[in-house]
Amino acid sequence: MKRRGILFVVSGPSGVGKGTVRASLFEREGVNLSYSVSMTTRAPREGEVDGVDYFFAERAQFETMMAQDGFIESAEFCGNYYGTPKAYVEKQLEAGHDVVLEIEVQGAFQVKKAMADAVFIFIAPPSLNELQSRLNGRGTESPDVVLKRLQTAVKEMMLMSEYDYVVTNNEVQAAVDHILAIIEAEHLTVERVAANIREDLLSEAVDF
Ligand code: 5GP
Repeated sequence: MKRRGILFVVSGPSGVGKGTVRASLFEREGVNLSYSVSMTTRAPREGEVDGVDYFFAERAQFETMMAQDGFIESAEFCGNYYGTPKAYVEKQLEAGHDVVLEIEVQGAFQVKKAMADAVFIFIAPPSLNELQSRLNGRGTESPDVVLKRLQTAVKEMMLMSEYDYVVTNNEVQAAVDHILAIIEAEHLTVERVAANIREDLLSEAVDF
Protein backbone atom coordinates (compact mmCIF):
# COMPACT_ATOMS: atom_id res chain seq x y z
CA MET A 1 0.00 0.00 0.00
CA LYS A 2 1.27 3.47 -0.97
CA ARG A 3 1.68 5.72 2.07
CA ARG A 4 0.39 9.25 1.85
CA GLY A 5 3.09 11.92 1.67
CA ILE A 6 3.49 14.65 4.28
CA LEU A 7 2.60 18.27 3.58
CA PHE A 8 5.29 20.72 4.80
CA VAL A 9 4.24 24.35 5.03
CA VAL A 10 7.18 26.74 4.93
CA SER A 11 6.01 30.16 5.97
CA GLY A 12 7.11 33.39 7.60
CA PRO A 13 7.37 37.12 6.93
CA SER A 14 7.92 38.51 3.45
CA GLY A 15 11.61 39.27 2.85
CA VAL A 16 12.83 36.63 5.30
CA GLY A 17 14.31 34.63 2.44
CA LYS A 18 11.71 31.84 2.29
CA GLY A 19 11.94 31.78 -1.52
CA THR A 20 15.73 31.49 -1.48
CA VAL A 21 15.67 28.81 1.22
CA ARG A 22 13.01 26.86 -0.68
CA ALA A 23 14.92 27.14 -4.00
CA SER A 24 18.12 25.92 -2.30
CA LEU A 25 16.20 23.07 -0.68
CA PHE A 26 15.09 21.86 -4.11
CA GLU A 27 18.62 22.24 -5.52
CA ARG A 28 20.03 19.84 -2.92
CA GLU A 29 21.06 16.56 -4.41
CA GLY A 30 18.90 13.58 -3.56
CA VAL A 31 16.02 15.67 -2.24
CA ASN A 32 12.78 13.95 -3.10
CA LEU A 33 10.09 16.56 -2.57
CA SER A 34 7.35 18.08 -4.72
CA TYR A 35 6.95 21.84 -4.84
CA SER A 36 3.49 23.29 -5.23
CA VAL A 37 3.58 26.27 -7.63
CA SER A 38 1.17 28.94 -6.40
CA MET A 39 -1.19 31.08 -8.41
CA THR A 40 -0.96 34.87 -8.03
CA THR A 41 -2.46 38.03 -9.48
CA ARG A 42 0.82 39.89 -8.84
CA ALA A 43 2.67 40.99 -11.99
CA PRO A 44 5.72 38.85 -12.80
CA ARG A 45 9.07 40.24 -11.62
CA GLU A 46 11.94 40.29 -14.05
CA GLY A 47 13.12 36.78 -14.73
CA GLU A 48 10.07 35.05 -13.26
CA VAL A 49 8.59 32.34 -15.44
CA ASP A 50 4.88 31.46 -15.64
CA GLY A 51 4.27 27.92 -14.40
CA VAL A 52 7.68 27.77 -12.68
CA ASP A 53 7.73 30.62 -10.16
CA TYR A 54 3.97 31.16 -10.15
CA PHE A 55 0.94 30.66 -12.32
CA PHE A 56 0.28 34.34 -13.13
CA ALA A 57 -3.42 35.08 -13.44
CA GLU A 58 -5.90 37.93 -13.79
CA ARG A 59 -8.08 38.71 -10.76
CA ALA A 60 -11.22 37.41 -12.52
CA GLN A 61 -9.52 34.07 -13.30
CA PHE A 62 -8.32 33.76 -9.71
CA GLU A 63 -11.78 34.58 -8.32
CA THR A 64 -13.41 31.98 -10.59
CA MET A 65 -11.00 29.32 -9.31
CA MET A 66 -11.72 30.42 -5.73
CA ALA A 67 -15.48 30.13 -6.34
CA GLN A 68 -14.91 26.60 -7.69
CA ASP A 69 -13.10 25.64 -4.48
CA GLY A 70 -9.91 25.13 -6.45
CA PHE A 71 -7.49 26.25 -3.72
CA ILE A 72 -6.36 24.60 -0.47
CA GLU A 73 -5.83 28.12 0.78
CA SER A 74 -5.72 31.59 -0.65
CA ALA A 75 -4.96 35.01 0.74
CA GLU A 76 -4.83 38.62 -0.30
CA PHE A 77 -1.35 39.86 0.51
CA CYS A 78 -0.33 43.50 -0.08
CA GLY A 79 -3.03 43.98 -2.71
CA ASN A 80 -2.59 40.74 -4.65
CA TYR A 81 -4.15 37.30 -4.43
CA TYR A 82 -2.01 34.23 -3.81
CA GLY A 83 -3.30 30.67 -3.62
CA THR A 84 -2.30 27.01 -3.56
CA PRO A 85 -4.06 24.98 -6.27
CA LYS A 86 -5.70 21.97 -4.62
CA ALA A 87 -5.51 19.32 -7.37
CA TYR A 88 -1.70 19.13 -7.65
CA VAL A 89 -1.11 18.89 -3.89
CA GLU A 90 -3.74 16.17 -3.41
CA LYS A 91 -2.37 14.14 -6.31
CA GLN A 92 1.21 14.29 -5.02
CA LEU A 93 0.28 13.43 -1.42
CA GLU A 94 -1.90 10.55 -2.64
CA ALA A 95 1.04 9.25 -4.71
CA GLY A 96 3.15 9.19 -1.53
CA HIS A 97 5.28 12.28 -2.27
CA ASP A 98 6.05 14.88 0.38
CA VAL A 99 4.92 18.32 -0.76
CA VAL A 100 6.36 21.71 0.21
CA LEU A 101 4.29 24.90 0.17
CA GLU A 102 5.99 28.27 0.56
CA ILE A 103 3.24 30.65 1.60
CA GLU A 104 2.55 33.65 3.82
CA VAL A 105 1.08 33.38 7.30
CA GLN A 106 -2.69 33.85 6.67
CA GLY A 107 -2.55 31.01 4.14
CA ALA A 108 -0.61 28.78 6.56
CA PHE A 109 -3.41 29.22 9.11
CA GLN A 110 -6.02 28.17 6.56
CA VAL A 111 -4.00 25.03 5.78
CA LYS A 112 -3.77 24.34 9.51
CA LYS A 113 -7.58 24.30 9.74
CA ALA A 114 -8.04 22.20 6.61
CA MET A 115 -5.17 19.70 7.01
CA ALA A 116 -4.42 19.00 10.64
CA ASP A 117 -1.59 16.56 9.89
CA ALA A 118 0.49 19.08 7.89
CA VAL A 119 3.80 20.24 9.40
CA PHE A 120 4.34 23.97 9.89
CA ILE A 121 7.80 25.52 9.68
CA PHE A 122 8.26 29.22 10.47
CA ILE A 123 11.24 30.87 8.78
CA ALA A 124 12.34 33.71 11.06
CA PRO A 125 14.71 36.58 10.24
CA PRO A 126 17.81 36.98 12.44
CA SER A 127 16.28 40.36 13.47
CA LEU A 128 13.73 42.94 12.27
CA ASN A 129 16.57 45.32 11.27
CA GLU A 130 17.99 42.59 9.09
CA LEU A 131 14.54 41.97 7.58
CA GLN A 132 14.17 45.66 6.73
CA SER A 133 17.55 45.80 5.04
CA ARG A 134 16.75 42.61 3.08
CA LEU A 135 13.45 44.10 1.85
CA ASN A 136 15.19 47.35 0.89
CA GLY A 137 18.15 45.56 -0.65
CA ARG A 138 15.92 43.42 -2.85
CA GLY A 139 15.08 46.62 -4.73
CA THR A 140 11.99 45.09 -6.30
CA GLU A 141 9.42 47.04 -4.27
CA SER A 142 8.72 50.75 -3.79
CA PRO A 143 9.36 52.26 -0.29
CA ASP A 144 5.62 52.26 0.59
CA VAL A 145 5.35 48.55 -0.34
CA VAL A 146 8.47 47.81 1.77
CA LEU A 147 6.90 49.63 4.72
CA LYS A 148 3.61 47.73 4.26
CA ARG A 149 5.48 44.40 4.10
CA LEU A 150 7.50 45.30 7.22
CA GLN A 151 4.35 46.17 9.18
CA THR A 152 2.82 42.85 8.07
CA ALA A 153 6.04 41.07 9.08
CA VAL A 154 5.87 42.39 12.65
CA LYS A 155 2.29 41.05 12.99
CA GLU A 156 3.35 37.74 11.46
CA MET A 157 6.26 37.33 13.91
CA MET A 158 3.73 37.31 16.75
CA LEU A 159 2.12 34.19 15.28
CA MET A 160 5.27 32.07 15.37
CA SER A 161 4.06 30.13 18.40
CA GLU A 162 1.32 28.50 16.32
CA TYR A 163 3.92 26.66 14.24
CA ASP A 164 5.61 23.30 14.88
CA TYR A 165 9.18 24.46 14.16
CA VAL A 166 11.17 27.68 13.81
CA VAL A 167 14.16 27.93 11.48
CA THR A 168 16.14 31.17 11.74
CA ASN A 169 17.48 32.17 8.36
CA ASN A 170 20.97 33.31 9.35
CA GLU A 171 22.54 31.43 6.51
CA VAL A 172 20.64 29.75 3.66
CA GLN A 173 22.40 26.37 3.58
CA ALA A 174 22.13 26.03 7.36
CA ALA A 175 18.40 26.77 7.11
CA VAL A 176 18.08 24.09 4.40
CA ASP A 177 19.91 21.60 6.69
CA HIS A 178 17.42 22.35 9.44
CA ILE A 179 14.42 21.86 7.15
CA LEU A 180 15.82 18.53 5.93
CA ALA A 181 16.33 17.45 9.55
CA ILE A 182 12.69 18.36 10.31
CA ILE A 183 11.45 16.38 7.30
CA GLU A 184 13.48 13.35 8.39
CA ALA A 185 12.28 13.62 11.99
CA GLU A 186 8.64 13.94 10.93
CA HIS A 187 8.89 10.60 9.12
CA LEU A 188 10.07 9.05 12.40
CA THR A 189 7.41 10.30 14.82
CA VAL A 190 5.82 7.54 16.88
CA GLU A 191 2.42 8.55 15.53
CA ARG A 192 3.43 8.10 11.88
CA VAL A 193 5.58 5.00 12.39
CA ALA A 194 2.86 3.32 14.47
CA ALA A 195 0.23 4.18 11.83
CA ASN A 196 2.46 2.64 9.14
CA ILE A 197 2.99 -0.50 11.20
CA ARG A 198 -0.77 -0.75 11.77
CA GLU A 199 -1.38 -0.45 8.03
CA ASP A 200 1.22 -3.14 7.28
CA LEU A 201 -0.28 -5.49 9.84
CA LEU A 202 -3.76 -4.93 8.47
CA SER A 203 -2.69 -5.39 4.86
CA GLU A 204 -0.85 -8.61 5.73
CA ALA A 205 -3.81 -9.69 7.93
CA VAL A 206 -1.45 -10.67 10.75
CA ASP A 207 -3.27 -12.59 13.44
CA PHE A 208 -2.31 -12.31 17.13
P1 5GP B 1 6.03 37.55 -3.46
O1 5GP B 1 5.10 38.57 -4.06
O2 5GP B 1 7.19 38.19 -2.75
O3 5GP B 1 6.43 36.46 -4.43
O4 5GP B 1 5.19 36.78 -2.33
C1 5GP B 1 4.55 37.48 -1.33
C2 5GP B 1 4.16 36.52 -0.22
O5 5GP B 1 3.16 35.60 -0.69
C3 5GP B 1 5.33 35.67 0.26
O6 5GP B 1 5.30 35.67 1.68
C4 5GP B 1 5.03 34.30 -0.32
O7 5GP B 1 5.55 33.25 0.48
C5 5GP B 1 3.53 34.31 -0.27
N1 5GP B 1 2.91 33.31 -1.14
C6 5GP B 1 3.38 32.77 -2.29
N2 5GP B 1 2.52 31.87 -2.75
C7 5GP B 1 1.48 31.82 -1.90
C8 5GP B 1 0.27 31.04 -1.84
O8 5GP B 1 -0.05 30.21 -2.66
N3 5GP B 1 -0.55 31.29 -0.79
C9 5GP B 1 -0.27 32.21 0.16
N4 5GP B 1 -1.14 32.34 1.15
N5 5GP B 1 0.86 32.93 0.15
C10 5GP B 1 1.72 32.75 -0.88
